[in-house]
Order: sequence, then structure tokens, then C-alpha cells
Amino acid sequence: MASIVNGYIGREIVQDPALPPLSDDMPLPEGGILHSLTNAEQLASIREVVAGGVSSNMRAQAIPEPLIVRQAKGDRIWDVEDRELIDLNMGYGPHLFGYADPELAAALARQLTEGAMTGLPHRLDRQAGELIARLVPSVEQVRFANSGTEAVASALRLARAATGRTQVLAFEGHYHGWSETVLRAGKAIFHEAAPDSTAPRPGAPGMIPEALAHTLQVPWNDLSALRTVFEAHGERLAAAICEPMMANACVVPPAPGQLEELRALCDRWGAWLVFDEVVTGFRVGRGGAQERYGVTPDLTVLSKVMGGGVPVAAFGGSRNTMAMLADHRAMHLGVYAGNHLSVRAVVTMLEKIERSPEIYEQLEEQGCYLERRLRSMFAEMKRPALVSRVGSLLSVSLLRQPADLSRGLRGAVQAMDFGAHRALQIRAQKRGVYFHPSPIEPWFLSTAHSLEDLDHVVAIVRDALADVPESR
Ligand code: PLP
Repeated sequence: MASIVNGYIGREIVQDPALPPLSDDMPLPEGGILHSLTNAEQLASIREVVAGGVSSNMRAQAIPEPLIVRQAKGDRIWDVEDRELIDLNMGYGPHLFGYADPELAAALARQLTEGAMTGLPHRLDRQAGELIARLVPSVEQVRFANSGTEAVASALRLARAATGRTQVLAFEGHYHGWSETVLRAGKAIFHEAAPDSTAPRPGAPGMIPEALAHTLQVPWNDLSALRTVFEAHGERLAAAICEPMMANACVVPPAPGQLEELRALCDRWGAWLVFDEVVTGFRVGRGGAQERYGVTPDLTVLSKVMGGGVPVAAFGGSRNTMAMLADHRAMHLGVYAGNHLSVRAVVTMLEKIERSPEIYEQLEEQGCYLERRLRSMFAEMKRPALVSRVGSLLSVSLLRQPADLSRGLRGAVQAMDFGAHRALQIRAQKRGVYFHPSPIEPWFLSTAHSLEDLDHVVAIVRDALADVPESR
């Protein structure tokens, strides 16, 4: 077990002989950043040339205390100050086998020597498509894309083209990327009273005012609101889209019967059901949430675990559902869509998943162990906290007063102690454990998170918590 030194878990960076030398050991360019700079200094230096210091706004929120990565392996990241941290954010979910999985790294290195992209079909496309079709119950055919955002946008365009309708129903707090017709104000407005309208608010400045004119939303796990919106708009709905279990704002499984009801309503009104399994695909089970809950969508969107950290996504369904793309009546484009490097990642990850079905039991055990240990730690410390879990996905949120998810996420979010949670994160990061500072963002486990590491996590969170005053 790694020792805790000066509050950090070990300090030694292990150079994997199979990998290229650590970047800071490489010659620095003229005027390059000295590796003796601290996290804060390096972030300031990056900010001079990268707007805001990050390439996704989300990333800025994730580091109230600067953290610049030097290397990542297994369940660990090493920062530029040579601190070793156990990571529970894990790049927001792709690394089911941990960072720098040697099998994936070797496959990608080989693919680079054979050509990363040509803009032409490759025989790997067949292998990747076949693997997805074998593992994901609703899928016979796919199209590849580069990100969840792109794949969702293309899936909804296909649903609109096929149904000849324009409206799309989404659920509050479910994130489906940042494209123009789905980016809604979400997690940030849960502290407000529930809206009495199904019209969502734009999620960003700069969106065209009419961008959401054809998008409706209802609360998650509110069957009566769901029935009402279908009664009012069903015949104009091209699609309903959801995460089959909510993993973007805490971990909130579907209420019993909700997915079945949604499937039945879509069938009755002729709307397509789209499952966004960007997070849940290949994570909450080999066949994703649709396999776990036994409900079959018309289209499924996949990304994250499928690429093991390489940017890739896909959307797919039955041959019938994909027919307009198969004969090119519908449109889906992208120079890098289905590039050979990304598709190699998909083949490598899914072959590994297919030949090791036992990992899902292992991940369930790890998740259950961490959940149990966290619950008893919070109870011993007499600090109210909400812990929710499905498989290897957990959400952990410090509360101001006891709350649960039975009366919906909005009530739980309003009971969360955002300030204390952020203070806890900063203190845990200093002690060698990283998780997202928002109490709404989930934690992701990988097969690399040993029970010993999870014990460390609980010990460090406990120690950090003792230092965090309760908010009044
Ligand atoms: N859908 C879900 C459920 C997601 O969690 C995300 C991103 O986290 C997206 C879509 C968007 O994916 P990307 O960030 O790859 O565009």
C-alpha cells in the first residue's frame, strides 16, 4: 500500500518502461515552462495562451484549487508538483480499466504506425460495429462520431427526418451535450422553484433565441408530468431523449415503471425513444442501462467507455431505424467521424469487455464497498450526506439537512451544502484524493480502484471532513 507522505499518497512517479518518457523529462522548447513551476503558476502560464486556462468551461469549475496533470496511470494522476492523487473523476468516465491501460496504449501505438485516419472506410469499422451490435441490445447498425454532443445532434436529426416532426422531449437536468437545440439551463437552476412550464431556458449566452422552440422538458421520475406532456404534444414529437438512468446530476435511477411508460408513450404517439448512454453505456453493465433495466430504445448514443479516453462516439439502432442513413437520405458528417485511431480504441475496449464479463461483478463490489464505507463514515462523523450508486457510478453530496432522492432531485439539490462540499474537495485534493468539487457530479470507479485505494479515499475524506465547518 502506498504510504501517506506529507499528506500525499506517495511521491514517487513510476516511469512505465512501455511508455514514452514523462513529458517533463523531454527537452523543453526555448522559453518553455520549467517543471519546477507549481500547479498555480502553470495554470497562470497556460491562461496566457488558452482562454481561461481550459478547453471546456466544466474543467475550470473542476479545479477551485489549480491542478495541472503530468501523468495518469491506473486510478492515479500525478500533478506538476509530483503529487500523487487517487482520482474519482476519472476524466468524467471513459477509463473503465483505469488510465493508460497497457492493452489500449499498445493498440493505439500500433494504429498510429498504420495510419490514424484516411477519410476512407477501414476493415476495423466492421469489427467495431459488430462488437457494439453484439453487446448493446437495441443496436444493429451504427454511425461513428467524435463526441457525445455530435452523436446526440445527429441522432435527433435522424429522428426528425424519419418522423417528419420537429419537437423533442427531454428531462430536467439531463445533459445531452452543447448543441443548439439541446443545451438547456440545467443543474445550475435546481436551486430555483420548479418551473410550471415545459419550455426550457437556454443554457448559454449566444444561443439563438428560437434554438429551444422545439424542445420541451419535464422533471425526471414524474410520471404524471410525462403523461400530460405526451397528451398535449405527442403527435408533434419526433423523439423523447433521456439518460436511462440519470448520471449527470447525481446518480438517479429511473422510478419503477418510468422507462416502460416512456417506451409505451413513444409507441402510442409515434415518437422515437433515444437513450443517451454516453455515460452508462458499457459501464452499468455490458449492454448499458438498457440491458440493466430491460427497456429498448429506438436509438442509442454511446461514447466514453467505448473509447477508453480516445474521443469517439456512436449512435445506432435497428437496421430499419438507421435506413435513412444507410441509403443516404438523412445527413451525418464529420472528417474525423470514425477515424481509424478512434475505431481501433473501440475495438480494443469492447473486445476486452467482451472477454472479461466478470469485471461488472468486480465493479459492483467495489462500488458497494465504497458506498458502505462512506455511509458509515458520514454517520460516525454526524454529517448529513447523500450517497447514491448504480454499479461503479456514485454520487456523494454533503447536505445542510437530511434529504433523499425519493421526492425528486430538485429537493435534494436544495438541501445540498455546495460551499462545504467544495471546501471538502479542496482539502481532499491537498491530501491526495481528487473528485469533482460539485456535489452534483458523479464519481467514477475503474477496475484499477483497489479496495485498499478505496480505504485510502474514505480515510482521506474523513480527515478532510473534520476540517470542514458545517454551513449554517
Ligand atoms: N450526453 C451525456 C449523458 C454526457 O454525459 C455528455 C458529456 O458528458 C454528453 C452527452 C456530451 O458528450 P461530449 O462532451 O463528448 O460532447
